[in-house]
Amino acid sequence: MQISDVREDIDHELISREDIQTKINDVAAQVSVDYADKDPVFLAVLKGAVNTMAVFSQAVSIPAQIEFMTLSSYGAGTASSGQIKVIQDVRCDVKGRNILIVEDIIDSGYTLDWLVRELKSRGAASVEVFALLEKPARRVVDVDVKYKGFTIPDEFVVGFGLDYDEKYRNLDSIAVLKPEVYEGE
Ligand code: 5GP
Repeated sequence: MQISDVREDIDHELISREDIQTKINDVAAQVSVDYADKDPVFLAVLKGAVNTMAVFSQAVSIPAQIEFMTLSSYGAGTASSGQIKVIQDVRCDVKGRNILIVEDIIDSGYTLDWLVRELKSRGAASVEVFALLEKPARRVVDVDVKYKGFTIPDEFVVGFGLDYDEKYRNLDSIAVLKPEVYEGE
């Protein structure tokens, strides 16, 4: 789905599909070098990071295991609760493995901070993070992000896996919604 298909709901496009691809390719090239001998596990947090994982994992030039986990820190609204709930756990033993977390967006940082600590407590050999988007203005918890995509302003974005109330995940670029879409929240 493209911006033109949901034009009435979108205020403006923030990052085009082309720019997303270019950035992911750059990160993937670096990760391919850094993890060449590390037999990495790429771990994405569902559902938001699924598009980033799909595009990123194809752009990487080394073999990697792909895993998913479902965590929840948001309801239907746009503000973090700070409470992390495991909806579906990772299906492999992370002990001794080199994990690269693939994230869609870091907002408050609660989700990532919790996940990094959890994986380390399970005995992962290393835990690093690739986040496609980062909103520094809203950071509450400091998390070390080794591979960064785009720094974005303090606006609620949708597309490329990110939703508002389970909609717009299949938009192929990243966009800011019109304020009236949130009315009644
Ligand atoms: P945090 O725990 O860092 O506050 O939030 C992480 C999660 O909140 C993300 O993985 C994402 O699901 C959701 N989130 C944070 N900011 C946004 C945003 O601007 N748009 C959307 N759609 N989700 C967001």
